[in-house]
Amino acid sequence: MSDGVLFDVFIVGGGINGCGIARDAVGRGFSVFLAEMNDLASGTSSWSTKLIHGGLRYLEYYEFRLVREALMEREVLWRNAPHIIRPLRFVLPHAKGIRPAWLVRLGLFLYDHIGGRRLLPPTRTLDMHADPASRPLKPLFSRAFEYSDCWVDDARLVVLNARDAAARGAVIRTRTKVTRAQREADGTWSVTVEDRATRATQTVRARLLVNAAGPWVDGVLAGPLGRNDAHNVRLVQGSHIVIRRKFDDPRAYFFQNRDRRIIFAIPYEEDFTLIGTTDQDFSGDPGDVRITEGEIDYLCAAASEYFKEPVRREDIVWSYSGVRPLYDDGASKAQEATRDYILKAEGGDGEAPLVTVFGGKITTYRRLAEHMLERIEGFIGRRGPAWTATAPLPGGDFAHDGFAAEVAKLEAAYPFLAPAHAARLVRLYGTQAHALLGDARGTADLGRLFGLDLYEKEIHWLMAKEWARRAEDVLWRRTKRGLRLSRQEAAALDEFMLDRAGKRSAAAE
Ligand SMILES: Cc1cc2nc3c(=O)[nH]c(=O)nc-3n(C[C@H](O)[C@H](O)[C@H](O)COP(=O)(O)OP(=O)(O)OC[C@H]3O[C@@H](n4cnc5c(N)ncnc54)[C@H](O)[C@@H]3O)c2cc1C
Repeated sequence: MSDGVLFDVFIVGGGINGCGIARDAVGRGFSVFLAEMNDLASGTSSWSTKLIHGGLRYLEYYEFRLVREALMEREVLWRNAPHIIRPLRFVLPHAKGIRPAWLVRLGLFLYDHIGGRRLLPPTRTLDMHADPASRPLKPLFSRAFEYSDCWVDDARLVVLNARDAAARGAVIRTRTKVTRAQREADGTWSVTVEDRATRATQTVRARLLVNAAGPWVDGVLAGPLGRNDAHNVRLVQGSHIVIRRKFDDPRAYFFQNRDRRIIFAIPYEEDFTLIGTTDQDFSGDPGDVRITEGEIDYLCAAASEYFKEPVRREDIVWSYSGVRPLYDDGASKAQEATRDYILKAEGGDGEAPLVTVFGGKITTYRRLAEHMLERIEGFIGRRGPAWTATAPLPGGDFAHDGFAAEVAKLEAAYPFLAPAHAARLVRLYGTQAHALLGDARGTADLGRLFGLDLYEKEIHWLMAKEWARRAEDVLWRRTKRGLRLSRQEAAALDEFMLDRAGKRSAAAE
């Protein structure tokens, strides 16, 4: 498909930044090839706290540019993806002796006013003697602040960007590793990619190379690019624990710890609470990162400081860990390293250009892509205007507050769906849930049931449209059904998918 073709842009990495750049670039008329060595979002982009947020904490480090850009993005992204993004209110109890109340209030005043907030409700002060938010908490607080940010399904945000990019003509190759990238005398790149299943290699030519390999970004510079000056990122591990639901309130909690770090306790997947995160320097292969015993102890102890019912190790039903690829600004503590992103451009004037992404948040991926496009256009010319601010992601073409109406529409079209099933499908696929279900007239038409409400029809969709190949892709990234399916059910799904993928590749040969 790509032999002999000269692509405008080759992107290394199918995390949020790589996929966001691919979508923006192809939508402006550039030809794009993206290679992801594992599954889409299998790196840092599915291990986040899943917030589209300004980052209240970053104000303390004077990151005004970043906070303003991130705040502005909240409503832009919510409007473009109201199925996978929704507003979330945070309760920030005022703890004496950590930060004075006036400082927190000032931070929240800025938060409310510098970021183009129109739809999200403003901050308010809570009397913790009367507000239901105090019910699950120890009686430590008389006052709290309640403010707005948004929740996002991070892994789906990545996949939807990839889907839209592919629909507009980008080549997206998963389980395809970049093993070598070489500048040619004619000012282009020759990039060698390896199919990780078959070990088959292929050379792809491109005008410009984007290194969006997240925590592997220095590794790509040192390995495939053969550089010896690759010491730009500071790898900072962050872990989360998931426990059975700790409180009924739909709001999340933002706790200020005595070590001046913060942790969130967030309602998660209806029946669970997500608690995180940590900040500790990491060395080693980011693919091998696992939550440490020390982090488990830290998160349990920190949450138990505030909740009446302590959080114990045995309450943990799942945990995950990721590595932040922060730009190394020489900060002394991991929690103080800048969360802003840097785009480093090299080449031009006959030498094939390379632009490398350091840092970046889920929240700012769309703006990062726009800044990247300015760099790309600087090297290979302008094609089309910026367009992603008002373009819905696949399935997100409904009103920002229209979720319940979309669920009602799906239930009317498919009356056999249980209400929770319909809501789950709209949450994941938005308006495209109708296309996924097609002409089904009853559950029998949905095919084999793999557990709870996960039917073959959805698996077909995920394999055909969303690059899912293994059960893990479906259970932990395209959906979070992994929290509820048994080991045996997951194994049966994996077997089914391998069998189907095998048949598909046999049919393609
Ligand atoms: C604990 C934690 C909490 C966070 N919480 C938030 C939050 O709430 N909100 C927020 O906005 N941000 C948050 N972030 C930050 C955010 O998750 C990251 O900044 C973002 O996901 C980075 O995306 P990326 O695309 O740069 O990297 P990645 O998602 O890691 O993608 C890079 C990809 O490159 C691929 N790759 C590497 N080498 C090669 C190669 N040779 N060939 C092909 N592919 C390759 C990898 O497999 C990987 O998938 C959090 C991060 C962490 C760790």
